[in-house]
Amino acid sequence: MGSLTGKVALVTGASSGIGYATAKLFAQEGAKVVVAARRKNRLDTLVAEINQIGGEAIALAGDVTDESYVQSLVELAVKEFNGLDIALNNAGILGQSKATPELALKEWQDAMNVNLTSAFLGAKYQLPAMESSGGSIIFTSSFVGYTIGMPQMAAYAASKAGIIGLTKALASEYGSQNIRVNALLPGGTDTPMAREFGDTPEVKEFVKSIHALKRMASPEEIAKSALYLASEASSFTTGTAMLVDGGISICKT
Ligand code: NDP
Repeated sequence: MGSLTGKVALVTGASSGIGYATAKLFAQEGAKVVVAARRKNRLDTLVAEINQIGGEAIALAGDVTDESYVQSLVELAVKEFNGLDIALNNAGILGQSKATPELALKEWQDAMNVNLTSAFLGAKYQLPAMESSGGSIIFTSSFVGYTIGMPQMAAYAASKAGIIGLTKALASEYGSQNIRVNALLPGGTDTPMAREFGDTPEVKEFVKSIHALKRMASPEEIAKSALYLASEASSFTTGTAMLVDGGISICKT
């Protein structure tokens, strides 16, 4: 029996990288999974892969900045799978990397909307669906803006730090109803987003070098930490900003 047998999970940003790997792992561990992102073809491939390993999943494509879409994801879980126990709010963008005076208001707002407002919208609809039997909400944040300041990343850093404040507020608001809320803070992880940050051999070597472990994570490694926060293994963990960062936050060499 898997650690999520009988559970229903929702994963956003499931078309790629960390979300893709986590949705697959949750399904492998026995959860029925609703998978979300804009690219329907990628979600369909994921659902097919999950079915192939004997798991169950449904895809609904849309934009996490659209409140009605975020609401429909929860409704789909409740209608098709009879409830919601776990939500990984993971969709995110790097946004524009620019000196702050060059950053347009729209660029700032895009990062805030996709990274932070979507997390609020997710919680707004996920919490009521979990009220009767408890649950685990996870937000993907980052070391950027929390333990590390990086130039030209003001909007990304602020949005990811905002998630940590949201996590603490919700954890205290819903702890008495047995809903745990945690932020997961991956280090550099080998995904399309990391390649967008820099795809030259020099940048890749630099990124590896600033981790204590001198490498990047695979999406599957981060998925295992999401599984920990989703499952009973973390039953007394709530309100945390959990670093899974290969030591990037403590490494000075
Ligand atoms: P990817 O670019 O591989 O995945 C991002 C996911 O977010 C995709 O599935 C994308 O799907 C989805 N997404 C983006 N915008 C929207 C939107 N408006 N509506 C719905 N879905 C959206 O990146 P990662 O897997 O690396 O990133 C996952 C999370 O991890 C992000 O929140 C990121 O900030 C965080 N993170 C990543 C790190 C890294 O080094 N990779 C380090 C620390 C944190 P689609 O395009 O199909 O909509």
